[in-house]
Parts: sequence; C-alpha cells; structure tokens
Amino acid sequence: MTTLDDLPIRDDLRGRSPYGAPQLDVAVRLNTNENSYAVPEPVVEAIGKALAAELRDLNRYPDREAVALRADLAGYLGHGITAEQVWAANGSNEIQQQLLQAFGGPGRSALGFVPAYSMHPLLALGTGTRWVPAQRGVDFGLTADEAVAEVREHRPDVVFLCSPNNPTGTALDPAVVTAVLDAAPGMVVVDEAYAEFARPGTSDALALLPGHPRLVVTRTMSKAFGFAGGRLGYLVADPAVVSAVQLVRLPYHLSSLTQAAARAALAHRDALLGTVEAIKVQRDRIVDTLRGRGFRVADSDANFVLFAVGGDQATAWRTLLDAGVLVRDVGLPGWLRVTAGTPAETDAFLTAMEKLS
Ligand code: PMP
Repeated sequence: MTTLDDLPIRDDLRGRSPYGAPQLDVAVRLNTNENSYAVPEPVVEAIGKALAAELRDLNRYPDREAVALRADLAGYLGHGITAEQVWAANGSNEIQQQLLQAFGGPGRSALGFVPAYSMHPLLALGTGTRWVPAQRGVDFGLTADEAVAEVREHRPDVVFLCSPNNPTGTALDPAVVTAVLDAAPGMVVVDEAYAEFARPGTSDALALLPGHPRLVVTRTMSKAFGFAGGRLGYLVADPAVVSAVQLVRLPYHLSSLTQAAARAALAHRDALLGTVEAIKVQRDRIVDTLRGRGFRVADSDANFVLFAVGGDQATAWRTLLDAGVLVRDVGLPGWLRVTAGTPAETDAFLTAMEKLS
C-alpha cells in the first residue's frame, strides 16, 4: 500500500495531519461553534425556490464576480459599504487563503497572536508564507502596546487579528486594531467570524475602513446565520484589495447554487439572526455557571466558551464525551472549548460538567 511518505510531497507538508475536529455521532455536539438551531421552515422553502430557479441554467458558469450577492452583503453590513468593497468565497477560510496568496507567499511572513484560530498558520503553511506566532498576554488579552511591539519587531507582510478570538472568545478593544494599523508595514486582517455575537463597543473593524486601505475585515455566514453548510464567507476592504484577490481566486469559485442560497438566506436574515440573542444568553449562562462552580473561564463575546478543566484536558474531553457531550480540545493544555447552543444543550453540558467538579 502506498503511504503519504512514499509520495514526492513538499518537505514542509511531510508528517503533518489535516485540520479537522472529530465528526462524531454524539447526541450533543458542541465542538465546532456551529449555530445549533436548524434553518427555519420558511427559510428552507425560500432557499429551495432560489436553488430550483438556478437548476435549468447549471449548464452555464456562475457570475464570476458574484455581483448581486456582494451587493446584498454590502446592504446587510451598512456602514455605507458598497459592493465594490466586498468579496465572497466558500467560507472565510477560502477568503483568508486568497488573502495569503495575494499578500503572503514565499519570502513573506504572516503574524498572529496565539492562541488564535488554528487555520491561520495552516493557511500560511499551504501558501508558503512564514508563520510568526506572537503570544497573547494574561487571560488571553492583547493590549495595543503588546501588539505593536510584536509587529515592530517582526515587520510581517500580513497581521492576523481575531475578534472575538477563537478559541478564547475574547474581543479586541478597537484601539488595538487602530494601533496595529498604524504600526504594521503590510496588510492587517481582522477575522470577525463571530462579530454578530459580540457586545457593543468591541471589535467591529468595519468602522475603521475609511482611510485604511491595508485593513481587511473577514466575516462569515457560518456562525450567526446558521449557514455553515452553505459555505459563504466574505471580506470587506478597499476596492483595491478586492482587485488583488481577484488575481488569485479560481475562476467561478462560487457556484451559482451557493450564490443563490446565500442571497435567499440574506433576504431572510431577520429569521436567521433571530437565534443570536438566545445563543448569547446560553453563552453567558455557561460562563456564569462554570465560574460559580469555581472553574476558570475566559471572557467570551462569541458563541462559545473556553474553560479550564483543572487537570489534563484530553482526559476531561473523554469524560464529557462518555457523558454524551462532544466539546473541543483545541490543544491548549488544561483548557477545553464548548459551543453555546440551545438551552437543552447547555443543560446537558452543565450536567456532564458535574463529572469534572
Ligand atoms: N475564522 C474563525 C475565527 C473561525 O472560528 C472560523 C470557523 N471555525 C472561520 C474563520 C472559518 O469559517 P468559515 O470558513 O466557515 O467561514
């Protein structure tokens, strides 16, 4: 049998494992920060109709520039943002890959403040971009001074900020983004995958876009919109940044089915985003309850919570799984991450957590 090692694979990919959380068949799955609520029936019907209307034309390539979808996304975002400032792809992962293809690459570097989203270094690896892991401070916070010192020392071509940050849940003070923008010699990407769950006054780098052509905000419909299976992420930036990623994107990367489904979902955003407040209630309930039981818990502005298990996290992960609850071991010694879902899922998680008390 041929193994990976027998193939003439790139040296820097040798011995690596693919990214991925275990997809286990467990009753309570709280490990990938999905929205636990199913798509409401009227939205299912609307998406179904939109898809049906595309089927006869599947012999044709989709709109390569996804013009109508980008206009709809701009309308959703407000802030006076126009379609020319928006670019969409199959999840914000693909958006970030395109950004590194355009602004990173061999001989260039990207810096992130870890622990942060684990795909950032993997996307750097895949695009031949040198990865610089700068460390976060106490309680996973990041001050403007700490961030600027790292950026000045390493002078990366791309800085990744993540707010609210995965896996910690912590949001950035907008002053950190401004300070990094002033100090960075290259592009500054603010990953705001969880923006809709954040408290007012945090993150929202969209407001900083005017006058900052090297700022890119990436967002997704995977979380708040409950559209993870639809695969739709996007960036917002100066139109010149959109021109840059158009140099590296695959032609027709976004299928006509994806574009139609996403547009239908956006048209029903009130119904889809209606779950956000309920999820925030469960998030805060998890934080308060675990703290009340004496656990160390990171502040969260996202739809998940990072908590210290008071021992080995791999053992604790198994204990929770045996109790029917799948959470995420993000490889942070002593810590686990749980997604905030429905009240019943929180009940199950908090009950399972009694085994760790
Ligand atoms: N950024 C962050 C911080 C994330 O947590 C995720 C999903 N886990 C993504 C980006 C990518 O999401 P998607 O590709 O589904 O848009």
